[in-house]
Amino acid sequence: MSETLPTPDPGLLSINTATVRQQWRLPDIISGCAALGIRGIAPWRDQVAEAGLKETAQRIRDAGLFVSGYCRGGMFPAIDGAGRRAARDDNRRAVDEALSVAARCLVLVVGGLPKDGEGRIASKDLAGARSMVRDGLGDLLEYSRSSGMPLAIEPLHPMYAADRACVNTMAQANDLCDELGDDGLGIAVDVHHVWWDPQLKDQIERAGDKRLLAFHVCDWLVPTRDLLLDRGMMGDGVIDLPLIRSWMERAGYRGAHEVEIFFGQRLVEARSGRSAAHLHPPPSDGLLAVATGIVLRSGHQSTRRQTATRLRSVNLLRAAWRRRPCTRTQPRRQAGATKSPPPASAAASAGRRPRTRAPARP
Ligand code: ZN
Repeated sequence: MSETLPTPDPGLLSINTATVRQQWRLPDIISGCAALGIRGIAPWRDQVAEAGLKETAQRIRDAGLFVSGYCRGGMFPAIDGAGRRAARDDNRRAVDEALSVAARCLVLVVGGLPKDGEGRIASKDLAGARSMVRDGLGDLLEYSRSSGMPLAIEPLHPMYAADRACVNTMAQANDLCDELGDDGLGIAVDVHHVWWDPQLKDQIERAGDKRLLAFHVCDWLVPTRDLLLDRGMMGDGVIDLPLIRSWMERAGYRGAHEVEIFFGQRLVEARSGRSAAHLHPPPSDGLLAVATGIVLRSGHQSTRRQTATRLRSVNLLRAAWRRRPCTRTQPRRQAGATKSPPPASAAASAGRRPRTRAPARP
């Protein structure tokens, strides 16, 4: 059935800034998205704090972007009352910030086992942690409902249960919505975290249009060595993205497709075996590749032309990341090549010359 899915509307594409945060600062990402026709963005709080909340909100408005989600709130469990109060206050600030940037939802990574003031796990009471999540959520809902900012619980892969999120399945998130009421409360579906779940289809259906607040896409790479590092480009791994998208759409979801890949410094270093300190590919290459990837890989029919474009996008991305290390190993031949069109290998794989495109200059 996935073969019959139409190509997703490019207007739904959103970039979670974690995807490109190692290369560019937030103002660059905003202007880069605008220059490439990417309409959505999902910024992280630390980047917004660095760039300034008011300035960022203005920049996003000026660029005509929508904010598919604000990252993030949560981390409710704590070993004592002081810790839980600190989490409550911080979450209220996150709601306020999400309102300032006109986010469609505040994404919640709910937290794992309770930690002490130093951030060390201080309890093995997983059931207790889940109770703290429910209580913290209930408390935050009183605040967020009054301001109209929807909260999106993001179930995380069970491997994160101890330190990141003890809500690990869509069923758990749906149960919380049942218990606390789904007025202003819903779910962020991140394929990386939930693709393995035998109940995924049923739980997406159970959530329905009202609760499905966000759709995060990437891919699961094999062999899987590290959950963070092995988040891959859509189409490079084992997740049947068109199938999951079809379930989302059948359930009524019409929101953004948010690319969240975490091309962190560790990933680059692990993949290249070199320090990533000097890697700064131009935004045009990296964002174009991501954009092309999502548009073409989330439910397209495989035609020759699309396959060629897809190959080009993959090679662009790889070339963008590897350019500087290549430069360092072949300093004279490659010097000055950082602003050049895609490398010959990309064109060769695509079977045609890539169109030249003016680089975005954020
Ligand atoms: Zn996510």
